[in-house]
Amino acid sequence: MLRRVARDLLEMAIEASRDSHPNEFGALLRRNGDVIDELLLLPGTISGTDSALFRLHMLPIDPTVAGSLHSHPSPHPYPSDADIEFFGRLGEVHIIVASPYNMRSWRAYDRRGEPLELEVVRHRR
Ligand SMILES: [Zn+2]
Repeated sequence: MLRRVARDLLEMAIEASRDSHPNEFGALLRRNGDVIDELLLLPGTISGTDSALFRLHMLPIDPTVAGSLHSHPSPHPYPSDADIEFFGRLGEVHIIVASPYNMRSWRAYDRRGEPLELEVVRHRR
């Protein structure tokens, strides 16, 4: 079970989410062993007024994709019904970064939208 995430990935995602405000930021999460440590950016998914997740549907299958990350321009890091439906399709860890975009304003969820505790670790490479 994937339970660890690299701190620098989170910091990068938080910064990208802040830069995208008031639009959503969306990216995929990639794993290296049991640590989620890479953001996979896709053209056209950087920001949008609609759900950033929608464009992530058009993806090639990639076994290193561990899940997704997207931002909420609101102070509520909780998955919507559409988010949970998306979570169920891809990967096992899904992170939502909410406004005001800091290390305390994100939450992780499993594919059913249930809260997941992630350990934040130093990047190993
Ligand atoms: Zn959402």
